[in-house]
Amino acid sequence: MIRIPKPIYIAIVEHARKESPLECCGILSGKDGAVQRAFELRNEEQSPVRYSMLPQEQLKVFEEMERESLDMVAIYHSHPHTLPFPSETDVEMAFYPEVFSVIISLKEENPVVKAFRIGKYAIYLEEIEVI
Ligand SMILES: [Zn+2]
Repeated sequence: MIRIPKPIYIAIVEHARKESPLECCGILSGKDGAVQRAFELRNEEQSPVRYSMLPQEQLKVFEEMERESLDMVAIYHSHPHTLPFPSETDVEMAFYPEVFSVIISLKEENPVVKAFRIGKYAIYLEEIEVI
């Protein structure tokens, strides 16, 4: 289970809406599955179907997380036109099996947010608790 404070939940949905029709991406930091902070990153691909984070921006976030003694809890990105389920590319690009993959789908009028853990052989749906 991943716990996300309501203001951060709202902020990542807003980020998805702002970038639509392109995918957005970002990092959620915190401790023990509880998110404390969101970092918006630029989608280097500028694509409606895939994303990648700029290494320099990612490095800056990692440095900041270290300064605050926080861990990377999740990587989030949006699916402007498709269901909130990891795409083939998402599975290929899932380098951190211990990190949640949060997907914000804008396919329906009301955004749907889902969390997963993507392992080598399986994808696990994880519960999101908005706190
Ligand atoms: Zn995706």
